[in-house]
Amino acid sequence: MGVRLIIMGPPGVGKGTQGEFLAERFGVPRLSTGDMIRAALQAGTPLGERVRVYYEAGELVPDEVVLGLIAEAFDGSEASGGFVLDGFPRTVPQADGLGELLADRSIELDAVLSLEAPEEELVDRISGRRVCGACGLVTHVRAVGANAPCPECGAALAQRSDDRAETVRNRLAVYRAQTEPLLAYYARSETGLTAVDGTGTLEAVRDRLFETLHMAEVAG
Ligand code: ADP
Ligand code: ZN
Repeated sequence: MGVRLIIMGPPGVGKGTQGEFLAERFGVPRLSTGDMIRAALQAGTPLGERVRVYYEAGELVPDEVVLGLIAEAFDGSEASGGFVLDGFPRTVPQADGLGELLADRSIELDAVLSLEAPEEELVDRISGRRVCGACGLVTHVRAVGANAPCPECGAALAQRSDDRAETVRNRLAVYRAQTEPLLAYYARSETGLTAVDGTGTLEAVRDRLFETLHMAEVAG
């Protein structure tokens, strides 16, 4: 049986990258509300148009929108063998909504992981982040050099529209105000909260996460 994990943490901490490592390791899908929203924005769907102003300002999109996206993913066969939730839940109402979704389906979480890194490092990681519009690669100017093309496929790299400095500061403030309270929420829950140091290389963080899950006997 696959695992059921939540990976939490501030913007730029590496949830997406590490969530993908975990998803691959356990053979389950990574459900990222951020990716779902970006897909809707790119496709220009009504949902995308509805959430664009929130996204571009670095604000959270309305709870019922992301709850709808997650409910859809749970109702499809996609998440039936387990999942890694990345970027969701982000507010107490979202966590309550998730709790109901899981209880209705008799699903229990195996772990809630909290990735941590100091704020200066988050700002540096986000402001240097570049994504490939063609193959989806996420990288950093430090790794590829300024104005370099995608090292995987040669297409142009771009900055995410919510990765500009003004928006980043707001995303961090929104995180502190609306999402950080969830750490205590899950620490009090039956599953508990597992904090993991998110500093160092991608591989170091990945190995730390695997080790932590192994000790928690999730990896079985
Ligand atoms: P990061 O964690 O680096 O901020 P994400 O891709 O997870 O990146 O989120 C980017 C943006 O997508 C958020 O700033 C917000 O506008 C929107 N978003 C993603 N997930 C949620 C969520 N669970 N609730 C509300 N808004 C969300
Ligand atoms: Zn590419």
